[in-house]
Amino acid sequence: MQRAIYPGSFDPMTFGHLDIIERAASIFDELTVSVLNNTAKTPLFSVEERVNILKEATAHLPNVKVESFSGLLIDYAKKKDIHVAIRGLRAITDFEYELQIAQTNKKLSRESLDTIFLTTSLEYAYLSSSSVKEIAYFGGDISQCVPKFVADKVYEKYGFPQNGVENE
Ligand code: ADP
Repeated sequence: MQRAIYPGSFDPMTFGHLDIIERAASIFDELTVSVLNNTAKTPLFSVEERVNILKEATAHLPNVKVESFSGLLIDYAKKKDIHVAIRGLRAITDFEYELQIAQTNKKLSRESLDTIFLTTSLEYAYLSSSSVKEIAYFGGDISQCVPKFVADKVYEKYGFPQNGVENE
């Protein structure tokens, strides 16, 4: 059975993440999406909230599991006996950062963890969790970036009405 892990902050999960999850789930027998509990970042959503959002958004995918982890990805992957990490690539800027992480993980894991990159679908190339937060912070429209139930939660965090706000 081929298994893979898709680690990330997912703060919050966007259509770009969901696209990578759906495509990876069709390639691998089992995909574990894992929310990184990163103490260096101050997230908008707690780890638990992010896990719940991902669970709801992937409920239609029977071979996808959602978990969280803290510490090094290689230790977590080893514990779960998973040898492939999935990451998404948008632009050159992602590539430089991702290449370094992939090579570090390969080296640190003594060749046991490989990274497979899926390139973004063109319609999501511009999407990032941070831009979603920035747009929502100013009451902008994020309906094309995240599912409706996620948009409601993001607006709520910034004190806007549940259904978001209309642009004037
Ligand atoms: P990080 O794990 O670096 O904190 P994210 O949680 O935002 O960042 O992203 C997790 C993974 O998903 C990364 O590999 C990132 O490149 C990828 N990703 C994020 N947004 C998109 C997108 N719109 N299309 C494809 N991949 C994406």
